[in-house]
Order: sequence, then structure tokens, then C-alpha cells
Amino acid sequence: MKTLRGIAASRGIAIGPAFHFRRADLSFERYTTKDPAAEWARFQAALQTACEQLAEVYAQAEAESGAEQAAIFQAHALILEDPELLEAVQTAIEEQGLNAEAALSDAVEMYVQMLESLDDEYFSARAADVRDVAARLLRILLGVAESPAEGLTAPSIILARDLTPSDTVLLDKSLVLGFCTAEGGATSHTAILARGLGLPAVVGVGAEVLEIPDGALLVLDGDEGVLLVEPDEKTVEIHRRRQEKASALLAQAQKRAGEPAVTHDGHRVEVVANIGSVAEAEVALESGAEGVGLLRTEFLYMGRSSLPDEEEQYRVYRAITDQFGERPVILRTLDIGGDKELACLDLPREMNPFLGLRAIRLCLARPELFKPQLRAALRAGAGRNLKVMFPMVSTVDEVRAARAILEECRADLLAEGHAVAEEMEIGIMVEVPAAALLADRLASEVDFFSIGTNDLSQYTLAADRTNALVAPLADAFHPAVLRLVRDIITAAHAQGKWVGLCGELAGEPLAIPILLGLGLDEFSMNAPVIPLAKEIIRTLTLDQAREVAAATLELDSPEAVRALVRERLPAVGELADPNF
Ligand code: PEP
Ligand code: MG
Repeated sequence: MKTLRGIAASRGIAIGPAFHFRRADLSFERYTTKDPAAEWARFQAALQTACEQLAEVYAQAEAESGAEQAAIFQAHALILEDPELLEAVQTAIEEQGLNAEAALSDAVEMYVQMLESLDDEYFSARAADVRDVAARLLRILLGVAESPAEGLTAPSIILARDLTPSDTVLLDKSLVLGFCTAEGGATSHTAILARGLGLPAVVGVGAEVLEIPDGALLVLDGDEGVLLVEPDEKTVEIHRRRQEKASALLAQAQKRAGEPAVTHDGHRVEVVANIGSVAEAEVALESGAEGVGLLRTEFLYMGRSSLPDEEEQYRVYRAITDQFGERPVILRTLDIGGDKELACLDLPREMNPFLGLRAIRLCLARPELFKPQLRAALRAGAGRNLKVMFPMVSTVDEVRAARAILEECRADLLAEGHAVAEEMEIGIMVEVPAAALLADRLASEVDFFSIGTNDLSQYTLAADRTNALVAPLADAFHPAVLRLVRDIITAAHAQGKWVGLCGELAGEPLAIPILLGLGLDEFSMNAPVIPLAKEIIRTLTLDQAREVAAATLELDSPEAVRALVRERLPAVGELADPNF
């Protein structure tokens, strides 16, 4: 048995075979052939296979997500018939004697450069489509598997160097038992995705994880941050029992999931969900979410080559608010940049993407991107309890500029005769230290704050949340982060504004008493932990929580903070980890 250690990124235990998520290597040799006619025939056969594949993918996408989402694959099929492209390939093969891979790649490069030189978003998106189709043809010519997830037919533990949000679109989640990656930190998006699905994850394990053979038996321990390779029977049995104990505890909490979270002495807080898709909205309701504290709208933009238009966004936002009825739904405007890339947006490469043109900065720089989303939100909010918040705000001017664009959209919509949200609460995420330190000024500009401790920790501790070498430093239990949280809440409350927290900290069992004691009004977390979080709140009194919170602020490390909560509140420690 081999033990690999990493960062515990999502709780729980998985036992099952290894499956590697491998990105395809599409490198090829360039050579001249003696039989250009046969080479052209080989290319045409690849075209035929690509056509068949696309028809299949179209049918699958249509069944899963509807004709609109699937339309992209029809557009891809049309590219396969493009006479200019095909002629360029044929000339290169027949006249220069080039092999099909090289001929295709040269023709595509020329075509793509032409599209990109037009400097227009529509044509850049077409260029991305052409590249996508060319990659499909290359995979066929080289005999490489179509998807990195091809061959995933039995429930498995997914191993990868790292997983981007768009990679995970390719995975059939019903076959995923857990995730283990060589890279990444506790708040990288692999970790968030795993928590959203209620699946265990260990990240930042190092390159050794890539050496494990496919199919090897694994125990993934998301509580301890450990991966056991080929464990003996006794070890498997111990972990199986832990798995059972944890699910019994969760089942117990699930029974009261629909009841409110009220402390022993009658203080009620709101417990809401972080969601990133329509499907997650359902899970959230089943888990007892009292609303949505963070709707990550990026999901609508990912894994596709054209931007969702206002109408499509309106329909999705409306569908989600319909599901929640009277309960609040907080829509976060597009948070792209950092480790979240979009295939449909050709963004410049940056040296430090987390310090770059991210989130609200990008939206303010690109009103043509921002406005359709705001218009869709205003329309979806008509007669609904929808609120909007802006991510990664660092200055007062950004809030004013964003609000001005929102008001412009509102006026346009009214002039066009649309129904719009009349009184929509507007908030910001406080996730940059500058915003935390300036919370008193910002509070007068908005209706509420939602603290984003994932980013607030990485920016406060100057530690990239996705870099396994420093990610453990970006720990939201650090007293430096907790003091900022205290100051943000105090500043907002002084002006009668409410404060939520939607970073991963809100769903951390040991953090819940601290946040309660600091006066947090709304806890927003991944749906699967909601029942447990409510149970924890029910074991506490507000005074108890206040004392613990005050004590943690005087400590000097995240480890000391966790230890203090465990020591003072053993019942919470027990719920945090039934095996502690
Ligand atoms: C955060 O930064 O805490 C947050 C909730 O946003 P995201 O994780 O999507 O950056
Ligand atoms: Mg953030």
C-alpha cells in the first residue's frame, strides 16, 4: 500500500478504481507522402468519421440540454463542408505531397488567422469553432480517444493533473466517486465542484498521482487529504466503516434539513446555497436551502464557443428563480479571469491572471458582455426575489460604474416595454482586502455584502489558491482573514446593511460558530453540507459563539483557531469529523 498526501479539499471517503482524465496529445510528424491520392482518401475518411461523431454528439447534447445548446455541433458539421478549407487541405496534399495532419493544420492556421485578423467577437468565436473541429479531425487521423473521459464506464476515482471547470463538463458525474489531482488548492475550482456534488476530493498531491495505473484500487480520504493506493483489506474495511458512520450522521441531519437554523437561545440565521447550474438548484432545495446566496453564472458561458445571449440567460435565470419562489436568489455577475477561462472569449494572456482583468474589471471594460447579463437579470427579477451582486470589487468607483450601467439597462428595458424588477437589492462581494478595509465607505453604496473568503484569503495571504506549493497558506481560518471578516460585518451593520458569506468557509463545520459569533446574517454554502451546518447552529447559543469568535481573533495561526473551536465546542468537533 502506498500513501500519498495532499490537501483535503472536499470531505468524505471514496473507495474504488483509478481512472485517469488525460488530455489528448495531438502532436504529429510532418512528412511528404509518395501516394497523395491515398493520403487524400485517408483525409476524406476522417471527414466522414467526424461527421458521424458530430451527429451523435448533437443527438446526445440535444437530449441532455436542448436544441439551443446542441446547435453548436451543427455549426461544427458545417465547417467540415467548408469549400475553402477543404480546398486548401486538398492542394497541400495533392500538390505539395504533405501528410494529411500537416496539410490540415496549415490550412486551419491560415483560416483561423484570417478570422482573428477581423478583430470581431463573432469571428473570434468562429475561429475557436474551427480549431475545435480541426482538433476532432486530428484526433481521428492520429487515432487518439475522442474525450479524455472516454472509457469511463464504471464508478471511479478521477485522477488528473488538474481539472478546469470546462473539463468537468465532459465527465458523466454519475460515474465519479471522487477527485484527486496533482495540482490545485482547497478553493481551486476542482475542489468547489467536488463539494457542490458532495464528492470527496484531495488536491495538490503532486505528480506521483499521475503514475498510478488505471484501475488500481484506491481509498480517497477527503477528510484527511490522503490517497491510499492498493490498500490491504483491513484498511479498506476501516474506511468503509467510516464511510457508513458519516452517511448515517448525514442522514440524521437530512431529516431536519427543511427546518430553519436557530440557535439554542432563539437566534435565527439564513442558510442558503451556492449553485452553479439549474441541476444544482434542485439539489439545493432538497438539502433545505432557504434560497441561493451565490449563483455562479459562469456555468452558462463555459464549454461552448459562442456567448449566451440575453434571451437564453433570461430563460435560465427565470427558471432558477421560479424554482425558489419567494426565497431569495443572489445572482453574481460574470466572474471570469483568474483560473476561469472562457473558450468563447478571446482574452489576452496575463502574467498574473488573479491580479488581472478579472470579474467586474472585465465586465466594466466590455459593456457588450456585461449589458446582456444585466438586462437578463432585470427581466428575470420582475415579480421575483432576485438580487444581483458584483464580484471582485476593489474601489467605490467600480460599484458606481456598475450601478450606472444597470440603471441604463433598466431605462432601456422600460422604454422597450419589458417588465423589470422594480426594487432589486444590489450587493457586492467583499473578496479583495481593499474592499474589506474600505467596507464602511462601500456599505453606503449597496444593500448588502457577501464575503468571498476564497479570494479574500488568497489576496490577504498573497498565496495563489490554485498553486499547490502555496495554497495551504491561503487558509480562511487564518486570524488575519477572520479579523477582516469581523471588520466587514461591523462596518455593514453600523449602516443597517446585512452580510452574507459565500466562500467555502461558510460550510466549514469548525468555522460556523466563529462566523455566528461575529454576527454573520447569511451562510451560503455548497448544498450537500446545508443539513449538517444547520445541525451545528442548533447546538450553539449566541453567547457561546461570541466568546469563541472573540478568542480566535487573538490567536496567531489557523491551526490554533481550529484547535480552540474543537476544545471549547466538542459537540461541534464531533460533527465536524465523526472520527476525530
Ligand atoms: C470567493 O472568492 O470566496 C467566492 C465565493 O468566489 P469564487 O470562489 O467563485 O471566486
Ligand atoms: Mg471569488
